[in-house]
Amino acid sequence: MALTTASTLEFLSKKPYTPPSWASHLNPLPSHVFSLAHLPTPIHKWNLPNLPPNTHLYLKRDDLSGMQLSGNKVRKLEFLMADAVAQGADCIITIGGIQSNHCRATAVAAKYLNLDCYLILRTSKALVDQDPGLTGNLLVERLVGAHVQLISKEEYAKIGSVAKGLGYAMNTSEELNFVREIAATTGVVLDPVYSGKAAYGLVKDISESPKKWEGRKILFIHTGGLLGLFDKVDQIAPLVGKWHRMDVNESVPRQDGIGKMF
Ligand SMILES: *Cc1c(COP(=O)(O)O)cnc(C)c1O
Repeated sequence: MALTTASTLEFLSKKPYTPPSWASHLNPLPSHVFSLAHLPTPIHKWNLPNLPPNTHLYLKRDDLSGMQLSGNKVRKLEFLMADAVAQGADCIITIGGIQSNHCRATAVAAKYLNLDCYLILRTSKALVDQDPGLTGNLLVERLVGAHVQLISKEEYAKIGSVAKGLGYAMNTSEELNFVREIAATTGVVLDPVYSGKAAYGLVKDISESPKKWEGRKILFIHTGGLLGLFDKVDQIAPLVGKWHRMDVNESVPRQDGIGKMF
């Protein structure tokens, strides 16, 4: 009870930051953070199928660090936002891919702190002149009133960094089917870009070299990013379970007779 009260009061407040001992050599050291994440996130046993004998796998649930602010990005935003506020900034400008979790989390954190937010989102040449839509992270960004500016990957490569590989944010059906399978067997929904690919790689390596993993204790970090899954629904649709209209004729009639047609 005391813990709940403390963290409730702390949320969205500025608090002094003391680094852990392994980070105390950093320079400059942040002096404050804004409390934006719900920490610590839980760790639980993760019973992935076909683990080698005596291999213990645990899952660190950073996807549960918040709702609109969920995922690992909120951890660095606690520092960056405190710095922006300390500098007297009135707006935040940042850049990412069209389904960037970083941009979504930044847009939400900025609004919490009463800062305006400008997002530069990279998309394909074909889509740069169209309304980007309301799927996944974009829905949250646009709901919280972020200013969305689109730029093609080619334009960005010219003025920004080199064009984060072709494969970024792209999925094979095999990867998406893996995400579905893990959700169906363990109840944990992975994201398509990071934790889904990483877990896919882990399971592949475990199945190819089980001896290497035997007896190991593994902590897998789920870094969030679930909203990105909404952008994959067309690719996921053929993989998920069938549905059918309920057969009302077979259902039991209400005892009170309400709804009876005769
Ligand atoms: C950005 C992101 C990562 C990568 O985190 P880094 O700290 O940049 O390595 C992992 N998972 C998700 C869901 C992300 O959005």
